[in-house]
Amino acid sequence: MKNVLLILAILVSVSQIQAQLPRVKILATGGTIAGAGASAERAGYKAGALPIDELLSAVPQIHKVAQVTGEQISSVGSQDMTIDIWKKLATRINQIFANNEADAVVITHGTDTQEETSYFLDLTVPFKNAVVITGSMRPATGISADGPKNLYDAVTVAASPKSKGKGVLIVFNEGIYDGRDAVKVSTTKLNAFTSPNTGPLGQVYDGKVAYYTTNLREVNVGTPFKVTSDTKFPKVDIIYMYADASSDLINDAVKDGAKGLVIAGVGNGNFNKAYMDAIAAAVKKGVVVCRASRCVSGRVVLEDEVNDKELGTIVSDDLNPQKARVLLMLGLAQTNDKDQLQKYFFSY
Ligand code: ASP
Repeated sequence: MKNVLLILAILVSVSQIQAQLPRVKILATGGTIAGAGASAERAGYKAGALPIDELLSAVPQIHKVAQVTGEQISSVGSQDMTIDIWKKLATRINQIFANNEADAVVITHGTDTQEETSYFLDLTVPFKNAVVITGSMRPATGISADGPKNLYDAVTVAASPKSKGKGVLIVFNEGIYDGRDAVKVSTTKLNAFTSPNTGPLGQVYDGKVAYYTTNLREVNVGTPFKVTSDTKFPKVDIIYMYADASSDLINDAVKDGAKGLVIAGVGNGNFNKAYMDAIAAAVKKGVVVCRASRCVSGRVVLEDEVNDKELGTIVSDDLNPQKARVLLMLGLAQTNDKDQLQKYFFSY
């Protein structure tokens, strides 16, 4: 009898400790972290094949860090990420926090377009609660899969009170990165993310979270962008610049109805005469053209080598082309005013 009472007392206190842990909701979207291969030693696999419950069962330790629940949003490799899934994610996260369904959210996501999703959500989730995105480079069925550790670290960061008010974070290979600045820099290596202009915000190691620096961008204070499932976004294309490029891609994008263009220019957002003429013609038709750079780091400077005032272009500041496209899309859904759009690029 004494032993039964002792066991009951232990069970009650364990569940009391569990109930005091932060509530973390995991939203699964697919990616290699949910990838399944034919065998552990082969690299080939299908991204997004495993459901969220199977990902969680690989990391039982997670339940000591947080009260974790999972929800499947999509099951795609992130090369197939869509604006509709972004809208679904933003809407669901805002609903979770508005209804106090969880204290923090972790998103499992393929790595290919993780940096675009992280910035989209950074711009459209106004809550201070932590939102952390993670993924993996090796499939769940591979030898030494990195997904379980990344997921454990992501939940640890999300559950930490230190992570509140930091906007969307990417947690990967023990690094904590700002969702605005993080970029995928390796096709296959485990340390696939970095923030080329700012460096990591901190580190998660041995279940402990340490921040070293902070992001001063206004994106973490608030933005004017609101997203519902009905929000319509204009077509914004990215056009790559390279030696001796012809203007065909720009002209075709405009013919196809693009309302915005991001030019992945060379160096400080530069392009050749063919691009210059095609851009001038596009601007005259009302298309907003934003100069970004194909360089891995640095800012694109307004009115430097290119006369933006005369050409009618704006600049992406330090956003790479794919992140600049996200902001231009959200910006153009609000306004066509180029000065206002330029302000967005300098603020967020
Ligand atoms: N193609 C995969 C994806 O982005 C790669 C990964 O997750 O690492 O979904």
